[in-house]
Amino acid sequence: MPQSKKDIRNAQQRKAKAEGTETKLTKSGHPVKAEKPKNKCMKCLKEFVMHPKNKKEQIEHHANKHPKETFDACFPGY
Ligand SMILES: [Zn+2]
Repeated sequence: MPQSKKDIRNAQQRKAKAEGTETKLTKSGHPVKAEKPKNKCMKCLKEFVMHPKNKKEQIEHHANKHPKETFDACFPGY
């Protein structure tokens, strides 16, 4: 008797639950994506998604909003 996709998924979920590696699922049964790491401007607390492609946005934000501060003062360690 072949297992249906649903049976396989339920079995995987049970296994994951037993191992403590359960992933949260949305109502439609898709895994919930982990929240993206955020980087906050220390000066005005605006949040940016941490991604190499977004660094330009932060450089522009710094240049436009806080030109008198160093980039590091707005986004330390970035
Ligand atoms: Zn800012």
